[in-house]
Amino acid sequence: MCNENEARMTNFIQEIIENDIASGRVKEIHTRFPPEPNGYLHIGHAKAICIDFLMAKQNGGICNLRFDDTNPSKEDTEYVDAIMEDIRWLGFDWDDRMFYASNYFDKCYAFAVKLIKDGKAYVEDLSAEEVRAYRGTLTEPGKDSPYRNRSIAENLDLFEKMKDGQFADGQKILRAKIDMASPNFNLRDPAIYRILRANHHRTGDKWCIYPMYDYAHPIGDALEDISHSLCTLEFEDHRPLYDWVLEAIGFENPPHQYEFARLNLTYTLTSKRKLLELVENGVVSGWDDPRMPTLSGLRRLGYTPTAIIDFVKMIGVSKAYSVVDLALLEHCLRDELNKTAKRHMVVLEPLKVVIDNYPDGQEEIFDVNISPLEDKPVNIKRPFSKVIYIEKSDFMENPAHKYFRLKPQGEVRLINAYFITCQEIIKDETGEVIEVHCTYDPQTRGGSTPPDGRKVKGTIHWVSAQHAVDVDVRLYENLFTTPDPNAASEGGDYMDNLNPNSLTHIIAKAEPALLDMQAGENCQFVRMGYFCLDAKDSTVEKPIFNRTVTLKDTWKKINEG
Ligand code: ATP
Ligand code: MG
Repeated sequence: MCNENEARMTNFIQEIIENDIASGRVKEIHTRFPPEPNGYLHIGHAKAICIDFLMAKQNGGICNLRFDDTNPSKEDTEYVDAIMEDIRWLGFDWDDRMFYASNYFDKCYAFAVKLIKDGKAYVEDLSAEEVRAYRGTLTEPGKDSPYRNRSIAENLDLFEKMKDGQFADGQKILRAKIDMASPNFNLRDPAIYRILRANHHRTGDKWCIYPMYDYAHPIGDALEDISHSLCTLEFEDHRPLYDWVLEAIGFENPPHQYEFARLNLTYTLTSKRKLLELVENGVVSGWDDPRMPTLSGLRRLGYTPTAIIDFVKMIGVSKAYSVVDLALLEHCLRDELNKTAKRHMVVLEPLKVVIDNYPDGQEEIFDVNISPLEDKPVNIKRPFSKVIYIEKSDFMENPAHKYFRLKPQGEVRLINAYFITCQEIIKDETGEVIEVHCTYDPQTRGGSTPPDGRKVKGTIHWVSAQHAVDVDVRLYENLFTTPDPNAASEGGDYMDNLNPNSLTHIIAKAEPALLDMQAGENCQFVRMGYFCLDAKDSTVEKPIFNRTVTLKDTWKKINEG
């Protein structure tokens, strides 16, 4: 099912595009991705990015990157840089078409002057509270402001004074003159300019008035010749305003807006504001903490662009509200890593095993292929010796029914090495097994079946104690315990749903070849899961591995019966 990277997206937007081309409304498909640089991109944005870039690409068109920087108080160049890095990482390219809404502040101002001259905008003196009171309700129309019918000359003069800093923040706004009785609130004379003295990350202190998003966005789209302005459903009610702005200014062949449903994912927050709170409250180590659903967090955890794009293609594009199971995202990742990740042996919770009949001081080096691809082998040297480590959970003194791993008098296969049989166990004063003594069968070298044809049911991984290297391993679980992190318990909020076990540090015993990995590279720890060499905190002296995902594919299980 997965690895659909080459597959075309078929959805209602594709139909619209095909109809628009057939009818001649558009000649070239031109989309844009318009992030606000007030936080890092998350998995929800990945959906929008894929739709914007891929719908253009598969129709021979192009996609712009445009930063929506109309709200200077929350924006920052750190976010701009991170957003670009994440989009590039996903594999998308905007060539030289990187823009800012602030590139168009002069034009937005000039268009506002035009609207005033055309009698389509006015300066409002009412306070924010009064404006709200005049706006009416769902069942009652709004009331016209006493300032709605000022003369054009007075409006022009006041708007210029707003721009020149002659009024306090919030003292006046510029409103579009549309319809106070409209059933759509967005058309009840919405604000299009506000006064705000805030240093802007690009325009500095040049402006003390800023255009509202609903006004600047259609203008940016039109100036960039966007044909299809794709956004999420919460903008559906804003579309009449989008169209009004373009028509009132008089753009020819204006862009059209189309909406699709946001991505919601179980156990995952997709709100920048809340993610910022997690960062600011120190719940996580930063925006790129591997538990964060940000693209930088997922990247550090070990996610790949292919897995994310496969996922977006699989969930499809529709207008219906839905919540996607996180297990599907993980499934797409496993599906890819299963084909690409090398297999290393690492023991997470070591139990010492001494092979009594193995000659003291002897070591053997097994040449093994760790590549998942038979036609592209990658061979490493895997040392074996008298003392090894196995996983604590691979030994049971009082085994359950059908326990096929190591048990008293039981025999198992050590992957690529030998059959061993448990002869004796040693416990500490608390009764915990701390050492197991075994014998091996020299006729099973490489893990092969012995001449007598004897079979074993259990196969376990191991690491030679004398050759093992210690590595830091970070075991991650979901950040939230509830499928809906926002599920409110008695007046509480998502902070109450944090998983106290979302991060466990352990020191594992690894085979030496594990250290040949590159930062950010994925591998499988055989039988234990997929792991990634941390690209940020890991050093040569102290290698750190993040558990990307376990091996158990719950999505596949549910969907394949
Ligand atoms: P947040 O609510 O997290 O702050 P936002 O919508 O304000 O998100 P923007 O930077 O404005 O963030 O988003 C850029 C684009 O990404 C918009 O077109 C928006 O519709 C889209 N987008 C944001 N969140 C999601 C999501 N969960 N699923 C799909 N698209 C999304
Ligand atoms: Mg937004």
